[in-house]
Amino acid sequence: MKFTVLGAGAMGYRYGVLLQEAGNQVDFVDTWESNVEKVREQGGVLVSRDHQNKRLVPVNVYYPEEYQGKPDVWIVFTKQMQLADFLKRTAHCFSEEQYVLTCMNGMGHVEKLLKYFKPEKLMAGTALVATVLNGSGDVDFIGARGAGTMNLANYTEKPDKKTHDVVVELEKAQFNPNLTTNFLGTLLAKVVFNSVVNTLCTLFEITMGEFASYPGADELSMQLINEAYDICERAGIQMLNTRQEELESVNYVSTVANPLHYPSMYQDMSHNRPTEVDYINGYLVELGRKYRYEATTHAFLTHLVHLAEHTRQSQPKNVIG
Ligand code: NAD
Repeated sequence: MKFTVLGAGAMGYRYGVLLQEAGNQVDFVDTWESNVEKVREQGGVLVSRDHQNKRLVPVNVYYPEEYQGKPDVWIVFTKQMQLADFLKRTAHCFSEEQYVLTCMNGMGHVEKLLKYFKPEKLMAGTALVATVLNGSGDVDFIGARGAGTMNLANYTEKPDKKTHDVVVELEKAQFNPNLTTNFLGTLLAKVVFNSVVNTLCTLFEITMGEFASYPGADELSMQLINEAYDICERAGIQMLNTRQEELESVNYVSTVANPLHYPSMYQDMSHNRPTEVDYINGYLVELGRKYRYEATTHAFLTHLVHLAEHTRQSQPKNVIG
């Protein structure tokens, strides 16, 4: 199958490299000049696993404007706030028969993708793996090969032959895909998870395990989960998990699966890049307002993350007292 990855960052490289190594033809399209130039200069992307065994994987990378490829499936892994620009700049390559798959965090991407792709060609989901971009052309796949999982669903909730073909390729590349027929429930499960773990760990600059070790962690998590579920219920979204199961999933990932990891939002904060909080906690706040529900805790956390972003942009101050 022919795939083109839009957004050659941490996750774009992970999906693209592993699909390429599973026998597919893969191209990468990216807008970050330093990244594209570095890959061209070194003849590929440097890939390590858990900080070890760094190796050079030859890949084809293009700027949007020069790309002329016609993939069967686009794999989209930009940050939420970058997506509109990526799509606009790559639009000349899109055609009616192409499928698109994305496992970006947050919400906001679906509407943007539907401006360019037919609803029956859109697959979206969640990726339950951690990947770190060390810098231009240098990526670190966290976790043993085949250890992570992913969920995906068709926007129409009606899987067709192409969907199953894509799932087979994802299985061969060891992404452990789980195909569901609940589009919003699948996406929202990760939004709720991220609204707790990503946001709190980022604010306090702690790993998931450090968060879970706080005796009040369950209470904090449950307050955020309850608000999120109150909103989703009002919006008529059929959630995949019960509230209690969502709490257990937060605890499992924080204590068993990824206790030593900082969430990807922290990576953005620590590099002074904008976070996706508006598309996670902020998305829940906006959704709640549509149903006259004020998600005060999510709104407060959204402000705190913006305050932290703002503070990090400021110059160091003289401290007195
Ligand atoms: P990323 O920041 O690594 O890459 C996204 C884009 O930003 C790429 O186009 C990349 O070239 C560009 N970029 C990266 N660093 C840059 C810099 N310093 N200056 C300019 N441009 C830069 O993003 P990602 O981690 O691959 O995330 C993509 C999506 O997947 C997001 O929605 C994210 O929340 C989600 N996600 C990430 C992880 C993870 O572990 N990284 C896991 C699950 C989901």
